[in-house]
Amino acid sequence: MRAVAMNEEQGGFQQLTGFTRVQGNRRLGGSAGSAYWDRILGELMDMLGGFGSADADVFISSTAGFGGGGSRTLGGISMANLNEAHPEEVKLILADINEITGLSVDLDDNGYMRYRIPEGNLTGSITAALFFIGSMNRAMASEEIVNVIESEVLRVSSMDPNAPINLQNTIEFSIDEVYGYIKGTSADLNNKTSGFGMSFLHELGHTRVGGRLQDDSPENPNYGPNIDIQNQIRRELGTNWGQEKTHSPIWIAADPTRNFFPYSDQALKTLQEGKIPTSGFIWVKRL
Ligand SMILES: [Zn+2]
Repeated sequence: MRAVAMNEEQGGFQQLTGFTRVQGNRRLGGSAGSAYWDRILGELMDMLGGFGSADADVFISSTAGFGGGGSRTLGGISMANLNEAHPEEVKLILADINEITGLSVDLDDNGYMRYRIPEGNLTGSITAALFFIGSMNRAMASEEIVNVIESEVLRVSSMDPNAPINLQNTIEFSIDEVYGYIKGTSADLNNKTSGFGMSFLHELGHTRVGGRLQDDSPENPNYGPNIDIQNQIRRELGTNWGQEKTHSPIWIAADPTRNFFPYSDQALKTLQEGKIPTSGFIWVKRL
């Protein structure tokens, strides 16, 4: 809460956020849009609360409309490597993230991600916005860099907490794998449900900066907190984004050349019966 107090005393909240505060409202207040972002910013401050005073400054700078940007800070998310090899697909990642988070996200001159909190109509998933801003802030607060690099596989280099920090923050990004998910998405679903933006956010969740979230859990080897946050984002985006039911692919004898990821209860049930689903799934070529 300290960040709010500092800003209010300096009279800079409107300047910092672009929102107009309504007299008598202790928080950002006013329009529905402000209420939305008030909640985001409030939750972010709660997240940062345990980090100590130095991070409050990071938070303030990131709400000033220019969050991120490696040229000004030591930490951040660098897309430089992937952008050099695949600039068109990096544009797709950014476009998806804009849609999914409702933020305005682009790259600075050094290839680092930065975001703006837009005014006006707010769309997207509050969970995605929180997760993305929170990750950006953690990177800046810890001065860690997430490197997104070209790869034949889609993964984070290491989720071992004892591995070198740079490996825990390296996203190996396979554009072919993502194109495969897009192509294999059943017609009833939005083909961005495991597209460039969601795949990026998924891998970001595995990084040290993103919280080292797992795809499995003690209760379920095929479902964990990283899938859970993605499904929450999908719920907020709409029913046609589906729900990833199990992170491990399902193979059935009736269709031996493909692997299936069920994105609906019906598809899961159909697959468990050994039959080919007609909706609510993503298939990939079986290797
Ligand atoms: Zn994963």
